Formats: sequence, structure tokens, C-alpha cells
Amino acid sequence: MSEIEIKCLLCGTKTREVDDINFTATIEGREVVITRLTGTRCQNCGEEYLGADSLDKVEEVTKKFRKPVVVFKRKITTSGGRRVIGIPEEIDRPLGKKENVNLWLEGDKIVAEVY
Ligand SMILES: [Zn+2]
Repeated sequence: MSEIEIKCLLCGTKTREVDDINFTATIEGREVVITRLTGTRCQNCGEEYLGADSLDKVEEVTKKFRKPVVVFKRKITTSGGRRVIGIPEEIDRPLGKKENVNLWLEGDKIVAEVY
């Protein structure tokens, strides 16, 4: 047990080290519960704080449940004086016959909502 004193962020009460924290994460719509994590718990309000080792463990477990993100790299071409991006077949296929798209910018990302 370490001597580091951690005060609860919610109520300021001294927390105690515990090793029975359950952490629930929702990944890809699935609920994943990770049990027996170490950290500290507030003696007053019960708020739990995961320790550094536990955060690593949570990261490791959630990574396994997450689907890999496939990114297709494309060059912007010019057609009729306009800049054009081709939709990769792998992305176009699941879109089916949808023909409308709402486009907007998020920083330097172009977000396309197809409907
Ligand atoms: Zn508290």
C-alpha cells in the first residue's frame, strides 16, 4: 500500500486504496465489464478512481473489443474545374442506392453523411 493521499474530486474526502473496482465500458454498442481493478475509493461518497495500472489494463481490454478502423487513402482529382474525391468501392457497396450526402467540415476532416 502506498502512502500517497488522494482526495476525492467530488467531495474532498480522503480516499482509500481498493482492489475491487468494476469498470464498465460500452464499445461498439457492447457493454464490457472489467472487474477487480485497483485504485482508490472515496470513503464518503463512494466515487472510484482507477490507478495507473488499471487504466493500462482498461486500455488493453477495450482495444481488443474495438473493431479496426479501415482508412482508404485517396488523391483529390479535378473534374470540370472542381475538386473530386472518388468513393472507394468497399465504402460505396454497403451504402447501396443512397444518393444524397450532407457534407461538412470538422477541422481538416470532411464528414459525409449519406442518406
Ligand atoms: Zn467523495
